[in-house]
Amino acid sequence: MWITNAKIVDVVTGEIGKDAAVKVDKFGLISEITNSTQISIDKNEKIIDIDGRFLSPGLISCHAHLSVVFPFSLTDEHENPAITAFRAAQRAAEALKAGMTTIRCVHEQNQVDLALRNAAKVGWFESPRIFGAGRAISTPTGHGEGAGCSYAKDFDGFYKAAIGEFEAGADHIKIFITGGLAKAGESSDDAEMTDEEISGVVKAAREHDSYVVAHAGESKAIMQALRLGVTSFEHGYSLDGSTAEALAGAGAFLTPTLCVTRSESWMREKGFEEASIQNALAVSDRHLQSTKNAIKAGITLINGTDYPPGDMVDGIPAALHELFLMNKAGLSTIKSFQSITSNAALLLKQENFLGQIKPKFAGDFIATKGNPLEDLENLREIDLIIKSGKIIKEIA
Ligand SMILES: [Zn+2]
Repeated sequence: MWITNAKIVDVVTGEIGKDAAVKVDKFGLISEITNSTQISIDKNEKIIDIDGRFLSPGLISCHAHLSVVFPFSLTDEHENPAITAFRAAQRAAEALKAGMTTIRCVHEQNQVDLALRNAAKVGWFESPRIFGAGRAISTPTGHGEGAGCSYAKDFDGFYKAAIGEFEAGADHIKIFITGGLAKAGESSDDAEMTDEEISGVVKAAREHDSYVVAHAGESKAIMQALRLGVTSFEHGYSLDGSTAEALAGAGAFLTPTLCVTRSESWMREKGFEEASIQNALAVSDRHLQSTKNAIKAGITLINGTDYPPGDMVDGIPAALHELFLMNKAGLSTIKSFQSITSNAALLLKQENFLGQIKPKFAGDFIATKGNPLEDLENLREIDLIIKSGKIIKEIA
């Protein structure tokens, strides 16, 4: 397949390549990038002339939950896994149709992310490429209580639980180092894990050449986990300047999930309890200031929603809603775009395969009429979506 007449968006340098042609081979990989006037095309080859549109890499959103039930209080930990799979598969398909060719899942009931990933690989349904945690590992009375997590205590317990998720096929491990916002009786300011427990999962992750993702409300617990080797932090509702600098200095990643504290209409639509909505909104200003602290310190910020990323929030997919919020918080347009492309790939340890348009990279693309690096709002209209060389959405 050739994609011709493309303005290729280099998400790393910000340069735009004109009149480009990109060849995707039968394995779904980019095999050649050249000028549209210089290609010789085989008669049998498919050509997609994108008529001067901007061609960007497929989008990557990194804090997805496909199986979560809204409101959370309706979660049934003993749900039939087939039901979990149908719910999650529909959300995966929606994310792909919104331009997300890759997602990172960070806790799925019944390890449904791992099952979907395997089913999609053999062609049973169309899904974004999935990097999954399987089940998050929680202390028995911690943030994950009642959500179908793996439950553990102490160094050995957490180590064994992490090994269990890896053996089931997990790509990374998810833990909760503080409480959260949406659950009664807990606070995102309360630490939930001991040094030994965090060290147990970090050891298992290192043995699997992987990493630990932490649901993290506030600075003290973040400093604790950073010291013990956690590298991927989520939310950061209360992140002070010195903690932000420590994260930046260590090369850690932060997925701020700004939409969690500023999507009132979405929460109402999903039937969240009033107390949960008020809890989320009450943290909104502090969360924004924390993200500004992160931007100032230069932490590598990553796009993630905490919602199914293709779910519509105020008329746009959650991942784009989040992208616009990060940009409005002060993250430059190019860094915002990197948070959902090249930097997301870096977090996934896929920087040599995903998140850019380069030879030997995955043939994952989106095309837009306007330049996303000039204005991210141009991503509101994605005309073409291709994943691994397969057309998901064709130009109308
Ligand atoms: Zn989450």
